Order: sequence, then C-alpha cells, then structure tokens
Amino acid sequence: MIKQLTIIGVGLIGGSLARALKRAGVVGEVVGAGRDGAQLQKAQALGVIDRFDTDLAAAVRGADMVVVAVPVGAMGAVFRAIAPVLAPDAVLTDVGSTKGSVVEAARAAFGALPKGFVPGHPIAGTEKSGVEASFADLYVKRRVILTPTEVSSPDAVARVRAMWEQCGARVTETSVAHHDEVLAATSHLPHLLAFTLVDTLATLDDKQEIFEYAAGGFRDFTRIASSDPLMWHDICIHNEPALLKILDRFEADLGRLRQAIADNDGEYLLKVFTRAKNARDRFCND
Ligand code: NAP
Repeated sequence: MIKQLTIIGVGLIGGSLARALKRAGVVGEVVGAGRDGAQLQKAQALGVIDRFDTDLAAAVRGADMVVVAVPVGAMGAVFRAIAPVLAPDAVLTDVGSTKGSVVEAARAAFGALPKGFVPGHPIAGTEKSGVEASFADLYVKRRVILTPTEVSSPDAVARVRAMWEQCGARVTETSVAHHDEVLAATSHLPHLLAFTLVDTLATLDDKQEIFEYAAGGFRDFTRIASSDPLMWHDICIHNEPALLKILDRFEADLGRLRQAIADNDGEYLLKVFTRAKNARDRFCND
C-alpha cells in the first residue's frame, strides 16, 4: 500500500497511473504536481488526483512514492527542485522514454544517485497527451521496463515493481544501455520515420490530393506522427547515440533497396519483403 503518492506531471502517463492505482485501491492520497495550476485543477476535478501543488518541493513532502512523469528534457529541473526535500526512505521513479539521460540528470541533481531511485519506462501509451486522455486500463497486460541503477535498493525495486503490477502490467528489468538501444530501434526510429514521411508528403506541391487519396496503410503507418512533437523532440535529443546507430543501419538498408529498384533487381526486393513479412507475422500478433 502506498500512503502518499506524488505524481509530478499529471498527463497521459502520470494520470493513467494515478487512475489505475486508485481503482486497485492500493493508494492512500494522490498528490499531483506540475507547473500549470489550471491543468492540475482539471486533474483534480476528474478525480485523478486528490490535491495538487505547483511547488514541487511542497508536493513531495510526506510522500513515500514519487513518480516523475514529465518530458525527459524536464527531468533534470524536477530532480533539482525535489532533491533537498525528498525523504531518505521515499521511493523515486520515473516513466521517461529514455533511461541514460534520466539517470545522468538524477546523478547531477542529487550529487550521488539515491538508493530509493528506480528508473522505469511503461511500454504503453497513445498518440494523445494530457490528463484528459488518461485512462485506468492503459497498463493492463503491457510491459514496464525497470532499469535499476548500481545503487537502487532491492526494497525500492520491489516497491516500484509492485506498483506497476497492481496496474496490471508485466514488469521486466534490464540495463540502462540495453533499454536505450532496444527502444531506439522499436519506438524512437519508427516515430522518426512516421514524422518524416508525413512531413515529406506535406511539403509536396500536390499534398492536398496525396492526403485525400491516403488509404488504410498510410493511416496505420503514420498514426504515431500525431504524437506530441515536443515530447518526441526531447526523446530523440536524449537518446542520441543509440538512435544514430540504428538510424545509420536503417539508412544503409534503405539505400540498398533504392539501388535494387534502380537496378530493376526484383529478386532483392522480394527477398527483403519476404523476410520482413515472416518476421512480422512471427513476432507481432495483432
Ligand atoms: P503529457 O500527457 O504531455 O504529460 C506530461 C506532463 O508533464 C503534463 O502534465 C505537463 O504539464 C507536465 N510538464 C511538461 N513539461 C513540464 C515541465 N517543464 N515541468 C513540470 N511539468 C511539466 O505526456 P506523457 O505522454 O504523459 O509523457 C510523460 C512522460 O512519459 C515522458 O517522459 C514520456 O517520454 C514518457 N512516456 C510517454 C509515452 C507515450 O506514449 N505518451 C509512453 C511511455 C513513456 P503542463 O504541460 O500542463 O505543465
């Protein structure tokens, strides 16, 4: 049971966590925190949080669990604001989509990483943002990846794991570096591709006609280009090494496909498309 949960950043991810824990009946009081009082007031009116404070330090006072759910570029400022007041036995976690940058931000803000700090990342979300888009089922049967640091205490890890399991999630643990490489490939690169494709088409002269003729495949492929640009700008900047590595590999593969088309090399195209179809049919059951 969490006595006081403080969520800094009550948007889609933070709001959905609050809703899920309240529904499960495993949290006493939920305190929301952030920079915009009007948005927090809305969260309170929706029943997502019990009270709020725009003073982050005041909001974490008394908390036994603190979840930071702001964009990854804002994590450092949040950690600096709460470092002087975080209780020594409080558990601190985050939901950021990149882990290396968040751990470094925490190290810089706290001087040394706190034993109670357990970085995390729910692999769940939608292309919508804000507390209005939050819902209690978001984490049901979804994966949450924890990347405990070298000093995270087993007790803190167990408490963060239990919190997510109470939301219906399946929790796994991995290293920070492995998380950032895998997510660069499976999430960050696809978002980059979707944003680029839509932007390329949107700047063509006959864009009106192109979008009018867009069929299901285009919609499926580009749905994630409706995601929050600021959040994704943050993620790309804060996962630079891993993202550049997979982007270089993708560029090379795309270049080979281009060459095959120019060379009328149908055999190569068929080989790649068949391998891709088999891989998708095997690994993605939607
Ligand atoms: P969101 O719906 O936009 O919520 C972000 C929240 O952070 C809002 O309450 C926002 O409040 C607040 N915020 C923004 N900038 C802030 C700042 N500088 N200081 C304090 N509060 C600030 O975004 P989200 O989708 O929940 O994403 C939150 C985190 O979850 C991000 O780190 C993201 O990488 C991670 N994540 C997202 C997804 C996804 O698919 N959406 C999935 C997994 C993890 P105001 O703007 O009203 O101040």
